[in-house]
Amino acid sequence: MKIENNRAVQIHYTLKDDQGEILDSSMDRGPLPYIHGVGALIPGLESELLGKEAGEKFTAVIAPENGYGEYDEGYVFQVGASEFEEDDEIEVGMQIQLDTENGPSIATITKIEGEEVTLDLNHPLAGVSLHFDVEVIEVREATKEELDHGHVHDGHQH
Ligand code: ZN
Repeated sequence: MKIENNRAVQIHYTLKDDQGEILDSSMDRGPLPYIHGVGALIPGLESELLGKEAGEKFTAVIAPENGYGEYDEGYVFQVGASEFEEDDEIEVGMQIQLDTENGPSIATITKIEGEEVTLDLNHPLAGVSLHFDVEVIEVREATKEELDHGHVHDGHQH
């Protein structure tokens, strides 16, 4: 059975950056289950998976625009350290949740200089070309309940 919209799919994947460094892999935790076509995966990976069958292996390089977006300097800004609660330990690399005009959003603290804290609202993988090694493990029709929920019900998700 080929991968099409509304089919329940399981894949193993390893994600590397341009330098070949592994950013993420399903190998230690088991295949990733998802429903094709509901926006569960980044668009570039979904279009590579379309039409593949169980047992197929492929590699794909996905440009930032089809991945986590281009890096946008406009999402980087400074706030005063006094904006944080007294007892919040803040350090570079920490991720915090912010309330923005577009709802809650995750920001990464990228610099702390004296009283000035730099926050970056870009996705950590924005601007990164994504190198995927993928193996399709299973393809089947999704159940009605899975489609209603937008996720697969085998394994550990429920
Ligand atoms: Zn569910």
